[in-house]
Formats: sequence, structure tokens, C-alpha cells
Amino acid sequence: MKIAVFGGSFNPIHNGHIQLVNTFTDNLGLDRAIIIPAYVSPFKEKDKYVTPIQRYEMCRLAFEGDEKAKISDIEIKRKGASYTYMTLEELSEKYRGDELFLITGADMFMSVHTWKHPEIIFRLATICGIPREGEGISSLKKQAERLEKIGARTEILDISILTVSSTEIRNKVRNGESISGLVPRAVEYYISKNRLYI
Ligand code: ATP
Repeated sequence: MKIAVFGGSFNPIHNGHIQLVNTFTDNLGLDRAIIIPAYVSPFKEKDKYVTPIQRYEMCRLAFEGDEKAKISDIEIKRKGASYTYMTLEELSEKYRGDELFLITGADMFMSVHTWKHPEIIFRLATICGIPREGEGISSLKKQAERLEKIGARTEILDISILTVSSTEIRNKVRNGESISGLVPRAVEYYISKNRLYI
């Protein structure tokens, strides 16, 4: 089985994230996607008033009815800082014999070699990248070459995804602007019902 592994802070999950996963599963013929909300991202800790469980719940709502997608709480349960190599080690134990594909947007793809234990990451998963604002296909291609030289397997897609970020969503909510069309309906309701980001 080919499995997409997609981690992020998902604060909140938005339609760009969903498009990103679907684009890779469709184009690479992946059988399954595991979406992993971070407990606290090692790179950013922003909104203290939104709990990991709430971010997890929003991921669940976003992929409800999608048979291929599974939301994992391994990083939330682990607490403290989770590093990608640890998560991949745990998943590769659990899904022995399956092939893992680490899904990233360009901002993450460009820095993967600087993460903790890149050699473990490269051994356990194919690194998948897609353009994002400011980081086009040519820099992704260069980075893919660089990564391959140091032992990674890579897949990049020249497909553009909805231009949206969680920061934009949080700002819009805070300013009382509509976020419809940027997050799934159920996530929009969840945010307003729980008065998140205001
Ligand atoms: P924030 O605005 O809080 O920094 P974010 O929108 O970047 O959040 P994350 O949860 O940090 O969301 O992202 C998880 C992954 O999804 C990262 O690999 C990121 O590059 C990717 N990603 C998020 N939004 C997009 C997008 N619109 N296009 C392509 N990749 C994206």
C-alpha cells in the first residue's frame, strides 16, 4: 500500500491542505492518507486558546466521509516536541511493508534537509513537494536535485494549490471577515460555534 503522511499545525485546517493531500493521492496513485496534527509544532507556537484536540477535531471534520483519509493523534499523544523522523519511525513500524510519502508544501520542502535526522526521514519516506506562493517549480526542482544527491527520493508536482494559509484564516476570523470557501463548511461552523480565533 502507498500511504501519504501529512503533518502540520492545522491551526486551522483549510482547503489548501485538503487540495494538497488530494492532489498527491490522485497524481501518485496513493491508497491512503494519514493526517497528523502536531502537538506543538517545533517551528511555531501561535494560538494558545486553541487546543490540540480542537485542531484534531477540525481535521476530522474536514475529511469526514473520505474513506482514504485517517486522522492520527500520534503527535498529540506523544506531547512535547515531535520531530518528523520520530513520527515516520512509528508509522513505518505500524505500516510495515507499505510505502510512505511525506507530503509538504514548498516552504517545508525547501528546508527538509535541515530537520532533525534527515537521513532517517529520507530512508523511510519519499519527500513530496508542491509549489506555494513565492516558491515556484524551478526552486523546487533545484531542491529536489540537492535532496536526491544526499540520498532522498523525491516527487514534485507542478500544480498550483489554492493560495491560503492558516494565518490568513485566523486573521479573517479576528477581523470578522468571512472564511467561507477557504475552509470546509463543517470547519467554518466549528470555528464559529467554539468562538475560536476571535
Ligand atoms: P500558518 O499560516 O499557521 O503558518 P499553514 O497554512 O502554512 O499555517 P501548516 O499547518 O503550517 O499551515 O501547513 C502544513 C503543510 O501544508 C506545510 O507543508 C505547508 O507547506 C502546506 N501548505 C499549507 N497551505 C498550503 C497551500 N496553500 N499551498 C501549498 N501548500 C500548503
